[in-house]
Amino acid sequence: MRDITQIMIQGGGPVGLACAAWCLQKNPRLHLTLVDKNSLDDAALTEGDTRGIALSHGSKLLLNTIHAWPEDSRPIHQIHVSQAGRFGRALMTREELNQEALGHITRYHDIHLALRKALRKIANDSPHFQWLNEAPEEIESATCLVHAEGGLFKQQDWVESGRDYHQSALVGLVEVEKPSLNQAWERFTKEGPLALLPSHQGDRFLNLVWCSSPESAQTRLGMSDADFLTDLENTFGKRLGKFNQIQHRRVYELGLNYRKEITQGNEVWIGNSAQTLHPVAGQGLNLGLRDAYLLAEKLARYFAIEKNSSRESLELVLKEYADTRTLDRRVTIGITDFLARVFTSSLLPVQLARGFALSALQWLPPVKSALARQMMFGRR
Ligand SMILES: Cc1cc2nc3c(=O)[nH]c(=O)nc-3n(C[C@H](O)[C@H](O)[C@H](O)COP(=O)(O)OP(=O)(O)OC[C@H]3O[C@@H](n4cnc5c(N)ncnc54)[C@H](O)[C@@H]3O)c2cc1C
Repeated sequence: MRDITQIMIQGGGPVGLACAAWCLQKNPRLHLTLVDKNSLDDAALTEGDTRGIALSHGSKLLLNTIHAWPEDSRPIHQIHVSQAGRFGRALMTREELNQEALGHITRYHDIHLALRKALRKIANDSPHFQWLNEAPEEIESATCLVHAEGGLFKQQDWVESGRDYHQSALVGLVEVEKPSLNQAWERFTKEGPLALLPSHQGDRFLNLVWCSSPESAQTRLGMSDADFLTDLENTFGKRLGKFNQIQHRRVYELGLNYRKEITQGNEVWIGNSAQTLHPVAGQGLNLGLRDAYLLAEKLARYFAIEKNSSRESLELVLKEYADTRTLDRRVTIGITDFLARVFTSSLLPVQLARGFALSALQWLPPVKSALARQMMFGRR
């Protein structure tokens, strides 16, 4: 067996970890190196990023294949969508879509830790796997280099196609007066979408994602808790009673940044390194996991065949991978961009059209279920 690195994955976020785990599960003899900038000690991550992340049913099925489903996740049984001060409302329930759940909410660091645990277990049977904190000198000599460096909008060292929505998301954990069991709320306000999602802390604590102009988000970040809660209650309305508490406020800038070409020579980009989306539809990580799974399938099979050693044959496999990802990426990026633009517009005609669209969703079940299925499973 050649003693060279066949696959080097750069980036130990959820997508890089999942890709490594699937590659090794499918081909334990792979010479695979994962370069992870984060401390290899999990304790350093437990206080990490607490933002709530919506994972689709499709992601749950994928993560179950490597036993990486985070234990602390909460199911969503229904989603209530409305717009503040205007007509138009839609309710999606798991019953009408005949699903166990419409999605699940977990914290970023819970999925990160669950994937680390899963990878360690799989690595026990993978003699040629290395998990390094720093890129080795011979990084260039890896047969295939997978970029999973991820990153947030405006913090990446590459900008290609996309859009700056001039929006930020303020996230946090809020305590409300009335319990809201397994229900997600998405409310379109003049400033942008405001979502309240189930949380690991029970039915009175909800994950908040409040999109607005960067200036408003910064102002709200700096407000006293009492002023913040009053502002939130005035914007969201009274459906959940009083807002009692807010914890862990943080702000993220939002935009779309994506690569048109996701392979070049022996390099391939997955997850946020390939596309960084607005969180309005909760699709970024779900799409990234599908990238990781399908790439792992191709690479594990490719390297299992000893005669596959030429650069040309690898490039062909990566090209095939890119082709299989075209439709899913295009549709998911397109829907997310559309929702981000339509639901953040303050123009009256757009607000009216959005009311009609929500009503149509309510009264046209096939449209609703087609949209929900795309969000739950994506396209392969
Ligand atoms: C406010 C907000 C809410 C969101 N909500 C949702 C949601 O509900 N559902 C959803 O599906 N998605 C959501 N997303 C998107 C989701 O967070 C990302 O799509 C996901 O984190 C991408 O994972 P990743 O592994 O590609 O990148 P990242 O999570 O950015 O991880 C990349 C990792 O690589 C490491 N790294 C970087 N450079 C290097 C290097 N050179 N060498 C080694 N390591 C490196 C970093 O330290 C990091 O740990 C949301 C995003 C935001 C901002």
